[in-house]
Amino acid sequence: MTTPTHSADIAIIGGGAAGVMTAIHALRLADSPLRIVLVEPAAKLGEGVAYATAAPEHRLNVPVRRMSAFVDQPDDFLDFMRQHHNPGGLPAAALGDGYAQRRHYAQYLRARLRQARAVGIARLEVVHDRATAMTRERDDWRVTLASGATVHARGVVLAVGNSLRPLPARGAEALSPSQCLEAWQYDAIARLPTDADVAIIGAGLSMVDAVLSLQVNGHRGAIHVLSRHALMPLPHADRHVAAAFDPADLFALSLRQRLKLLRRHADDARARGEAWQGVIDRIRPHVQALWQSLSIDDQSRFLRHAVRQWDVHRHRVAPDVHAAVGALLGSGQLQRHRGRLQAVTPIGGRIHLEATLAGGGTLRLDVDRVINATGVETLAASMRSPLVRDLLATGTAVPGPHGIGLDTAGDGEVIAADGTVQPGLFALGSLRIGRLWESLAVPELRAQAETVARRLLDAVRPSAQ
Ligand SMILES: Cc1cc2nc3c(=O)[nH]c(=O)nc-3n(C[C@H](O)[C@H](O)[C@H](O)COP(=O)(O)OP(=O)(O)OC[C@H]3O[C@@H](n4cnc5c(N)ncnc54)[C@H](O)[C@@H]3O)c2cc1C
Repeated sequence: MTTPTHSADIAIIGGGAAGVMTAIHALRLADSPLRIVLVEPAAKLGEGVAYATAAPEHRLNVPVRRMSAFVDQPDDFLDFMRQHHNPGGLPAAALGDGYAQRRHYAQYLRARLRQARAVGIARLEVVHDRATAMTRERDDWRVTLASGATVHARGVVLAVGNSLRPLPARGAEALSPSQCLEAWQYDAIARLPTDADVAIIGAGLSMVDAVLSLQVNGHRGAIHVLSRHALMPLPHADRHVAAAFDPADLFALSLRQRLKLLRRHADDARARGEAWQGVIDRIRPHVQALWQSLSIDDQSRFLRHAVRQWDVHRHRVAPDVHAAVGALLGSGQLQRHRGRLQAVTPIGGRIHLEATLAGGGTLRLDVDRVINATGVETLAASMRSPLVRDLLATGTAVPGPHGIGLDTAGDGEVIAADGTVQPGLFALGSLRIGRLWESLAVPELRAQAETVARRLLDAVRPSAQ
């Protein structure tokens, strides 16, 4: 049997939010009937890991009014929500400041993709498969898919997104899939027996998702949260007001001086009766430039000493979500442990956990289920994706600064092992974190997707060949 070959001008690898946004922009901007292939294993586009949850308790952690897929139409998601998901008839201001259900965001992206396909002159073919390898053949990229099929395209964008870190414990491989769940197995977590004792490893946003699902289910068993810092995401302020200071002052400073100044701004804000969150919101649009202006040593210091504090201040949750987790903590049903997981052992249908506590000593727990919520794998060399492994092994790409993601140039062009820019090959989203630091959330993805779509269209124009 012959395996199919898909010929395209542009191939988009990954159909999560970033890949779908790139497809929408390319369809909208194309001025000739070119062919775009989007490769995505999942049946539904626009979901990836973040928006694949059908659970209403899983909400966006960015207000509706900041989630438009289009830089030049900032109210587009708000308009979608007004039209489709505003049964209470909230005024635009209140709806825009709210945190929508994440499943509605996937619906939004699919709706905009349908519209772009209907009016665009270019043609989009969706191939439900997984890319495993890439090589350059003359002027084209040849992408090999898991089925054995291939895609030939002049321009390719890697939008492969987030991959989960494996459970960091000896013996993890001895646990059955029903004993050890990934935090992104939303349906399986929602079906856990309510009397199960559960240990969640990791204390970030995925932990919050898991805890909310357990709570909605009326969970009665113990919930242990174990992480190295035991810091949980902080809440957004009730009102979104950026603090009034000039972020330009930060650029000339070292990391230590910057953190000190930010703490001072937060204290000043509190003294004026304002929320500290306004300080983070003030620098949010400048985070990429701030990261890039740090020396490589200061970037390393940040990664060693400040990253977890940064994460809980920057990646916040809706105030009511924060309160719900706080209530479980207050009742004692949720117990927080600061330490490093060492080993897991299945014993008589239960799981024995051992962790080294931060304050010294060993934590020993017996639970029924473990949920791995250790977050997104950012180190390229540790990524389990066969495609990323192939790109690194063949020198098609190299890890980014500090080994994080892939190294890329200004518009996301992938840099090869010999230091040259790969023609027509781009990366976006989490693969660019090493270079940009802030490269995960929609406000960055939409801008990257549009830029990459423009660059790919330029690269495949007949005059460019
Ligand atoms: C739980 C969670 C909640 C979040 N909430 C928000 C939020 O509220 N607001 C916000 O702005 N950001 C949020 N984020 C950040 C989030 O990362 C982005 O908004 C967005 O989901 C990233 O999209 P992506 O397409 O880059 O990656 P992903 O969502 O990971 O999608 C990548 C896609 O690529 C596919 N893929 C992977 N490898 C291959 C391959 N080899 N071949 C073909 N396809 C492949 C995958 O199947 C997947 O569909 C959240 C992230 C997580 C994890």
